[in-house]
Amino acid sequence: MNQIRNRVLLPGLVAALAAQVASADPVRVERLTWAGVKFVTADTTVFVDAVGTDLWDGGAPGGLVPVTADTGRRYALVTHAHNDHLDVETLKTVLGDRGYVICHESMATYLASRGLRVISTPSWVPVSRGGFTFTAVPAVDGFGDDQVSWVIATGKRRFLHAGDTLWHGHWRRIAGQFSPFDAVFLPINGVRVSGEPLQETPAVMTPAQAVDAAIALEAKLMVPIHFGHSSPPDYIEADDPLGTARAAASRRGLAFRHLSPGEHFAIQE
Ligand SMILES: [Zn+2]
Repeated sequence: MNQIRNRVLLPGLVAALAAQVASADPVRVERLTWAGVKFVTADTTVFVDAVGTDLWDGGAPGGLVPVTADTGRRYALVTHAHNDHLDVETLKTVLGDRGYVICHESMATYLASRGLRVISTPSWVPVSRGGFTFTAVPAVDGFGDDQVSWVIATGKRRFLHAGDTLWHGHWRRIAGQFSPFDAVFLPINGVRVSGEPLQETPAVMTPAQAVDAAIALEAKLMVPIHFGHSSPPDYIEADDPLGTARAAASRRGLAFRHLSPGEHFAIQE
């Protein structure tokens, strides 16, 4: 009798579970200004390198997107403490009394000293909050400061945000742990910074290096970040970084999507 009932009930159970999966909320992925990205689920907002202060004297490439959240749960990841990636006052406002900054342990003391509520983690150790899992993985800063990239997972989806890292040798190790990535957000401006004589070696990945990194990461999609601003002689980005990255991605069979600041896409959890 029980066996018969199980046979009858099981298809119903499977259908109910399938409906639950099908009705899972999508993750909304929005590009913010410069390197900023925002991930939103039904009840949680996650910012990465969100900057809401005008550092560009009214000329923020693609416009200055307000850093706002509608959900109760709010987290802000930071790749490193440079002002085009860390905006303390904006984070204090948007996180309010309940939100947290999630950072690598190397930055925890500094961020806490600025009045932010901090959850810190060593590299490769996942932190789970709000239905997301965040893992700091290696990156290399162009000025020798502490910097990490973030692996951001929710449901079956995985993303990587790489701040403004240089090219480095950790991509395949990261891919070995986490690939495939549904989307990777990679800096492309290949900027050379002031100095006499001007360095020929960029302080951030070039468009071609970023495409190489996306391929090494086994990414299903590359979204370029951190480009569109040049102020010679102090800050000189690669020629046409977006066009160069798009052409390199096309040549190499990599899916590539440019999101202007404020644009978004949705992907099922
Ligand atoms: Zn930067």
